[in-house]
Amino acid sequence: MQTKYIFVTGGVMSGLGKGVVTSSLAKLLQLSNQKVSCVKIDPYLNYDAGTMNPIAHGEVFVTEDGGECDMDIGNYERFLNQDIPKSHNITTAQIYSRVLEAERHGEYLGACVQIIPHVTDAIKDRIRKIAEKEQLDILVVECGGTVGDIESLPFLEALRQIRLEDGPENIIFVHVTLAPSLDVVGEQKTKPTQHSVQELRRIGIQPDLLAVRCSQPLEMAAKKKISLFSNVSVKDVFSCHDVDSILTVPQMLNDQGVVDVIFKKFGKVGLLNTSANWDKWNAIVGSFSNSKKSIKIAMVGKYVTLADSYVSVNHALKHAGAKIGKNVSIDWIDSDDLNGNINKLSLYQGIIVPGGFGERGSEGIIKTANYAREKNIPYLGICFGFQLAAIAFARYACSLPNANSTELVPNTENPVIDLLPEQKSVTNMGGSLRLGSHEIMVDDNTLAFKLYKSNTIKKRHRHRYEFNKKYLDQFKENGMNFSGYSDDKKRMEILEIPTHRFYVGVQFHPEFNSRPGFPEPSFEAFVTAAAKA
Ligand code: GLN
Repeated sequence: MQTKYIFVTGGVMSGLGKGVVTSSLAKLLQLSNQKVSCVKIDPYLNYDAGTMNPIAHGEVFVTEDGGECDMDIGNYERFLNQDIPKSHNITTAQIYSRVLEAERHGEYLGACVQIIPHVTDAIKDRIRKIAEKEQLDILVVECGGTVGDIESLPFLEALRQIRLEDGPENIIFVHVTLAPSLDVVGEQKTKPTQHSVQELRRIGIQPDLLAVRCSQPLEMAAKKKISLFSNVSVKDVFSCHDVDSILTVPQMLNDQGVVDVIFKKFGKVGLLNTSANWDKWNAIVGSFSNSKKSIKIAMVGKYVTLADSYVSVNHALKHAGAKIGKNVSIDWIDSDDLNGNINKLSLYQGIIVPGGFGERGSEGIIKTANYAREKNIPYLGICFGFQLAAIAFARYACSLPNANSTELVPNTENPVIDLLPEQKSVTNMGGSLRLGSHEIMVDDNTLAFKLYKSNTIKKRHRHRYEFNKKYLDQFKENGMNFSGYSDDKKRMEILEIPTHRFYVGVQFHPEFNSRPGFPEPSFEAFVTAAAKA
């Protein structure tokens, strides 16, 4: 079976929404009954996204199989409602590691190892293995960065070679560019697109389709000009104008006939019965715009200066809101700004504390967790938010005033949160946290059971520290229960306060399992409780 490939490249500048175009193309092909998946190429030299600061690079998205990936993988999962394995995030470091390892094993004996063909072969091999293993009809591959970057050259070269080897009937290159307007009613400028297509053609890639980002729908005059200068026919130039919700992009591209164009190029025929698929998807998309009345949520964390730092948490809140017909408005609050100003939180119907690392801002979060408990404000703590809620409870409800986490104060007298025992010998910082999906047991007659309606759930993790069981009885006596645990009760995974309106902390990351139309249960319950507050 020959998998067809769509290669998405980016021009002009970063941040144009290549990830959304990629996800949207994959979505509308999935709705057209194709078996699809997406791959993200990140040409940077980090082995994976795990060691990158979320303020600079956005959230680290964790996959079921424990990959610490680029946040675009999260977009693919949410659009396709499908798990994406970590092998779908390819970086320069992974490719070079593979090549260097092969060289040491003598796989290239006698040869001078070079970017072409050895590195490009390793790239092609990695992409083709995914298509083969998953038996895909179509694989959409997004190449990160902007054409002209030095780092992405070997990847673009590999994609060019795949077209040569597999034949043009099996490959579509989509180039995402920008047509800026200098003022609201102004003319749409095509020169940046012309130049970026020229750049691509210089390295031997002629795009088949152009997805042009613009604020207003792309005008025919601009389309014609772009077509002429880019050697792409007018019907293959697509407008990707601004919309309120990214979920409407598949429909927007579909309305412009993109499926017909792709199917014709791939020699596919007979599009049957896709309207039921679209109806289901559009009902989900519609639930977001139908939502009325806002629920005000405070998200208190460390990396609040970049909205992308907690992108999955933001989406999970919106999914939950849409499900109950409410719009969720989120204020990101830097925990450092709450010192002496904690009463500000009384303005919110719910407080959420997402994941985080390190000492800065932690005292503000501990105060936040305590404030939510004392004022009976719905609280959802995720990972770091679970751990700091436990510390707050130890300090203010269990008379352990100096309770802390050994992550924050290594020699604390009351290490309520402590290093996972198996982490004690770990010195390597990359890929060494407790990662990915682990099974969790849930006790009957608990709030957690009410949410998950099951005694076993599987959730994704990313942590090095955990609740110290030494304090378990003391917590119980004072009113905090642990209703979920893993690894033969070794690790506490869910905390709750039964007398509180809604006070839940989870050691795992529920946000990575939330999808449009299918909110993760802890988010849905949190938002529902907040709506009543
Ligand atoms: N820093 C904490 C740990 O490593 C929490 C991690 C997180 O929030 N993802 O355990």
